[in-house]
Amino acid sequence: MKDILMRSIEFSEEEKLVFETVQKLCREEIAPRASEVDREERFPWENIRKINELRLNNLFIPEAYGGNPISKTAWLAILKEISKACTSTGIIFATSAHCCYPIVDFASKEQKRRFLPTFLDGGLGAISITESHAGSEAKAISTSAVKRSDGYLINGTKMFVTTGDVADVIIVFCIAKDGTRTLGLTPFIVLKESPGLTIGKKEKKMGIRGSSTVQIIFEDCLVPHDHMMGEPGQGFKALLGFLNHSRPNIAAISVGLAEAAFEAAVNYANERIQFGKRIIQHQGIQFMIAEMATQIQASWQLVLHVGRLMDQGYKDFGAEASMAKLMASEVVEKVASNAVQIHGGYGYCRDYPVERMMRDAKITQIFEGTTQIHKMVIGRRFTKKE
Ligand SMILES: Cc1cc2nc3c(=O)[nH]c(=O)nc-3n(C[C@H](O)[C@H](O)[C@H](O)COP(=O)(O)OP(=O)(O)OC[C@H]3O[C@@H](n4cnc5c(N)ncnc54)[C@H](O)[C@@H]3O)c2cc1C
Repeated sequence: MKDILMRSIEFSEEEKLVFETVQKLCREEIAPRASEVDREERFPWENIRKINELRLNNLFIPEAYGGNPISKTAWLAILKEISKACTSTGIIFATSAHCCYPIVDFASKEQKRRFLPTFLDGGLGAISITESHAGSEAKAISTSAVKRSDGYLINGTKMFVTTGDVADVIIVFCIAKDGTRTLGLTPFIVLKESPGLTIGKKEKKMGIRGSSTVQIIFEDCLVPHDHMMGEPGQGFKALLGFLNHSRPNIAAISVGLAEAAFEAAVNYANERIQFGKRIIQHQGIQFMIAEMATQIQASWQLVLHVGRLMDQGYKDFGAEASMAKLMASEVVEKVASNAVQIHGGYGYCRDYPVERMMRDAKITQIFEGTTQIHKMVIGRRFTKKE
């Protein structure tokens, strides 16, 4: 599958070298640990350390701040490759990038100079939007940041923060207030050791069990004024800008996982004998394989399309980002389920990786906007204003 998917991407010489190094790391270190990380629900620190040693954490930081950015298409290919080897690791890696995007796009030069080096030094990032009553409906966020003379006082409880328990930097979306005046949605840069920040419940999840997902409680958590990003009340711009970057990433993660499930299914179908021949020689299985390959290729082309739009400098690619995320997440859920089907009863058992892959796949239809929300976003694009 790899050869077919990678045919449609043109790397520079430097990107090619980075990609080959990533492939080696995935083959030798990350993929062999994926089952264990899932079984033990263990944060894959070894993988993150290796990623940092290769300075892959520099890829999403602008050159002006010490990073070594590559084209978006090359970035998406690298993220796909890591997620193919271990989806939990791909998500942790992508989440740090997600934390950086609003800093790069919306923070002041001074804030960039102060906070981006954390990532170059191997620190992790998280992004915190969701609350118990504010999931798909981000407008319902109620965590408050009240302006005082010495900073902003944050109070509220955030849900489902990926990497929230280990991240050094967390972007927290709050409703800023000045006295009795509500200023609106505003992102704040909150550091891990901030007094008043505590980690609450750690979720026990169906899949991506190496990636931690936690509740964060803010009780009179004081952050300095200069940790606020942009103008107060301008948070929706930052939120939409962040989602336009993060959604193609989730799509790339989905394609990587789909590719892994597909390859496992193809290998199995070429070995398993029933009715006197390899099951891939039965047309029913061949048709499943053909549909899986076609859907994976189609979703990868959508991901690359968004990557190319970004590389060409387009700013208005929200609908395309949603299309890529919607399709790739629907495809991976189907492909992983079919990979289990092709393995028969063995696929349902933990000895085979497709069982983990099917559990990992489900989340891609839920986070960074559910399937239904993406259909709304795409549909709205074509709805004429009254
Ligand atoms: C493992 C994991 C990691 C996560 N990581 C993060 C993170 O790092 N940071 C963060 O901020 N959040 C994170 N989330 C939260 C995630 O983004 C939300 O779960 C997601 O946005 C959906 O919100 P919800 O769970 O409250 O579901 P709801 O919004 O309550 O939706 C429930 C159902 O209703 C549907 N629905 C809702 N509104 C509509 C509508 N208008 N029309 C049609 N259908 C609708 C949804 O599609 C869904 O099927 C994570 C969640 C999980 C499970």
